[in-house]
Amino acid sequence: MNTTNGCPFCSLPAGRLMFSRGQALAFKDAFPVSPGHTLLAPKRHVGSLFDLDHTERDDVFSALSIARDYLMSEFKPDGFNVGINDGIAAGQTVMHLHVHLIPRYAGDVGDPRGGIRWLFPDKAKYW
Ligand code: 5GP
Ligand code: ZN
Repeated sequence: MNTTNGCPFCSLPAGRLMFSRGQALAFKDAFPVSPGHTLLAPKRHVGSLFDLDHTERDDVFSALSIARDYLMSEFKPDGFNVGINDGIAAGQTVMHLHVHLIPRYAGDVGDPRGGIRWLFPDKAKYW
């Protein structure tokens, strides 16, 4: 079975798709945290990165690079956060694996140091 009832990434409106690459899809996050926030997902409904087969994993990472090139030309960000919330305990809310590609812009937060370490605000600052 290739879709799961109610999964938004199994039933993406065609207009929301940026491109597909083999077994992977690239599409805009519906609630972007920064301009250009993009999601890369396998076509197959799989919850975890660690349950992808090799082809799916290669295609998701190829799509990640293609999306990065597109965002560089269209949005000219200064950096990226690339992340996966893998599992409910890690914050996953849509249980169809997706990689967040989040463009970052100089000055978009006061002090960006630490990046994803801020998942744990009291431990983020090690410097
Ligand atoms: P998670 O919390 O699972 O890592 O991320 C879920 C992401 O999916 C969020 O960034 C959220 O904005 C995005 N999202 C939720 N529903 C939809 C939808 O229907 N379409 C799209 N394109 N993105 C969605
Ligand atoms: Zn799905």
